[in-house]
Amino acid sequence: MTSSHCVERATPWPFACGWTTRKMTLIWGFAVARDDHGFSPLHWACREGRGGLVDMLIMRGARINVMNRGDDTPLHLASSHGHTDIVAKLIQCKADPNTVNEHGNTPLHYACFWGQEAVAQDLVVSGAQVCVCNRYGQTPLDKAKPHLRQLLQEKAEKLGQSLIKIPYKETFWKGTMRTRPRNGTLNKQAGIDYKQLSLLAKINENHSGESFFCRWQGDEVVVKVLQVREWSTRKSRDFSEEHPKLRIFSHPNILPVLGACQSPPAPHPIIITPYMPYGSLYNLLHQGTTLVVDQSQAVKFALDVASAMTFLHTLEPLVPRLYLNSRHVMIDEDMTARISMADAKFSFQCAGRMYSPAWMAPEALQKRSEDINRRSADMWSFAVLLWELVTREVPFAHLSPMEIGMKVALEGLRPTIPPGISPHICKLMKLCMNEDPAKRPKFDMIMPILEKMQDK
Ligand code: ATP
Ligand code: MN
Repeated sequence: MTSSHCVERATPWPFACGWTTRKMTLIWGFAVARDDHGFSPLHWACREGRGGLVDMLIMRGARINVMNRGDDTPLHLASSHGHTDIVAKLIQCKADPNTVNEHGNTPLHYACFWGQEAVAQDLVVSGAQVCVCNRYGQTPLDKAKPHLRQLLQEKAEKLGQSLIKIPYKETFWKGTMRTRPRNGTLNKQAGIDYKQLSLLAKINENHSGESFFCRWQGDEVVVKVLQVREWSTRKSRDFSEEHPKLRIFSHPNILPVLGACQSPPAPHPIIITPYMPYGSLYNLLHQGTTLVVDQSQAVKFALDVASAMTFLHTLEPLVPRLYLNSRHVMIDEDMTARISMADAKFSFQCAGRMYSPAWMAPEALQKRSEDINRRSADMWSFAVLLWELVTREVPFAHLSPMEIGMKVALEGLRPTIPPGISPHICKLMKLCMNEDPAKRPKFDMIMPILEKMQDK
């Protein structure tokens, strides 16, 4: 097996310097962002033998059979590196022991090649085929040294496996079943040919434009057609400069803009984002779905959002004009909350208009955005989101946006915390909603608090 056949890559830096699980969450984005090979966090954790992190990722909804660009699954990596405990965990979580990568190699091919005897035996016990050929006609047994070959052969026979070679099969037909990382799925190019879009159904129309549910290259997406008055070459140039900043694929709690284009004849800027079956957190909490958001789910959502915000706050400069509120948080099919980059506004979109003042910090309503600390203001918005999660009410529902803006900015209107709310959450909310922006905590400081709440 030449090096191109195997799943080796250089050790990514966060692991090289002994990061803890929590710190890993903080720099999660970077770990993957630096990676051109489509590795998900689960891939890295499995490769590096970080059992605790693997548990956490699985608990938080990481997909077990996710593939990198070479079609390696986390099981391929854990097997190559001989992490028996992680292999057991993955198998227990229904990882497919016979999954093949682009070379037709199964996890067992690698366990054999690297002489990972314990792992190889466990894989066989879990149903891995010892005689399946890769693209080059080699079976796992061909890769093993004589001692291991003998061992596996006996084990396989005992389990009733036939030792006749199974020829390599092209698996392109598996196309739709394969789960590449969400990060990579649609990461083809920023520029999109609008002719490829088939708009299926309008899902929304508002001040900023229209949104459609759509299929694009086999994936379900939402296409936002932005409404802009007097489209100009200047605006067109700004659009081209700004939309790539929203293509953030490296964090599980961030929903990227996949790409963008400008459709003729009267150009409309268009942005595309993955379709999220549950819509926004606002939809989920306030618009009568049958799903119940209980206390533990609420804390999980808060943790998802805080994790995304921690990452976004490491960016310098920050993503411009991205305001945190429950309409901008989307809920994925596995109930993961993801902050939607499609909800960041472009420079040409009604500058200065505040559509969701209820979530905005008082100072953000009063001053220009250049004159405030955006990170502290985001923390206030997070506190309102927490309030919303635990009360399951719309903040200041009885007032118009205009009234809310005025009253919060000038008359000291604040969300009131009703009785019966968990004292821990109550305390956290008050901490994050400090009147003095400088005294509000940072997102990385509240992550452990939320994690503790989740354990309870
Ligand atoms: P704004 O234009 O200021 O962002 P808005 O949030 O009301 O206002 P959209 O972002 O177009 O407008 O979203 C409208 C609705 O479309 C949302 O309430 C949500 O239900 C749905 N929606 C938006 N993005 C997605 C998505 N990626 N997946 C599924 N539904 C979405
Ligand atoms: Mn929106």
